[in-house]
Amino acid sequence: MGFFDKLKKINIFSTLAHLGSELNDDFYDELEESLILADTGMDVTLELVAELRRRVRTEGIKTLEEARACMCRVIADAMNVGDGALDLSTTPSVVLFIGVNGVGKTTTIGKIGAQLRHQGKKVLFCAADTFRAAAAEQLTIWAERAGVDIVKQHEGADPAAVVFDATSAARARRSDVVLVDTAGRLHNKQNLMNELNKISRVVDRELPGCARETLLVLDATTGQNGLIQAKQFQQAAGITGIVLTKLDGTAKGGIAIAIAKELGVPVKYAGVGEGIDDLKPFNAADFAQALI
Ligand code: GDP
Repeated sequence: MGFFDKLKKINIFSTLAHLGSELNDDFYDELEESLILADTGMDVTLELVAELRRRVRTEGIKTLEEARACMCRVIADAMNVGDGALDLSTTPSVVLFIGVNGVGKTTTIGKIGAQLRHQGKKVLFCAADTFRAAAAEQLTIWAERAGVDIVKQHEGADPAAVVFDATSAARARRSDVVLVDTAGRLHNKQNLMNELNKISRVVDRELPGCARETLLVLDATTGQNGLIQAKQFQQAAGITGIVLTKLDGTAKGGIAIAIAKELGVPVKYAGVGEGIDDLKPFNAADFAQALI
């Protein structure tokens, strides 16, 4: 089974038998409709279909099967907006996770922690979401599951102080990567910016020159609302990548295309379940192949 087998397909190319095999206006109309239903968004859909039409013309594409392969390339190209790999080039490197409650932030950190550990990296979790007591508890459970260390403090502690502790621990234990669970929520843009700036200053001071990422975790089932959220986070926090969770059980997979294209930020990971193995580095070609 491929990783994206749980994705609900747009299925346009297998349901077009009634149109015959012609790449006519009806075909393009139905393709547009399917992409919009999958929450790709109107503007992005129109651009993708226009690009397909252009390539069908210039590449002399005649059959549905060729058009399908071409559409996969169009989608993959549209999503090719930067390095999909995490920058872990220094020891330690720091990855901040932000996102609203319930999107799968803690779960994602657990899954990525387990993967990095399997790759032989020394991972440290930092429970800087001190806003909810449950957040640190939940991250502790994931740390045990993934077999990695965790630094935490009491509920209500200053997130920057927890990050300070984690940077000291990372130096002392020679950790390769620190995964920071922040309370980086968007209830108030100024608060979020202040909190992240403060964390950033601690990292700058304690681990000067370290490789750093800020990943926004988004729930794919929220579709276009997720995109609106992402734009707000991007303005407030300068994100370097997206983790798109819950791609299983949604027919809104097209949102991944919209996010990459409209934000110009790569989707770096995709989540397709609650288990520790249900997260993979995102591959646009595989995704496009599975989606359509
Ligand atoms: P947080 O509040 O952002 O830290 O979110 P959690 O990590 O606590 O996740 C919220 C819920 O979403 C939990 O029940 C997770 O098991 C579930 N979840 C997270 N990622 C995925 C995913 O990729 N697919 C599915 N189906 N559920 C997920």
